[in-house]
Amino acid sequence: MKETTIRWPTSKFIKVRCLKCRNEQVIFDKAATEIKCLNCGEVIARPTGGKIELVNAEIIKTF
Ligand SMILES: [Zn+2]
Repeated sequence: MKETTIRWPTSKFIKVRCLKCRNEQVIFDKAATEIKCLNCGEVIARPTGGKIELVNAEIIKTF
């Protein structure tokens, strides 16, 4: 499946890149706790009660 448009609302997992160290990792979009970069420890996503909110990270790919 190839997508040019990121349709985050329908995804469960997203691949993100830490803007600080460029590390890439896959995260769950409804995490209940803060998600930290596995490489540098920077918080890259925060829970909002629904979907997470990305901070210091950008979406590379959705699943
Ligand atoms: Zn990082």
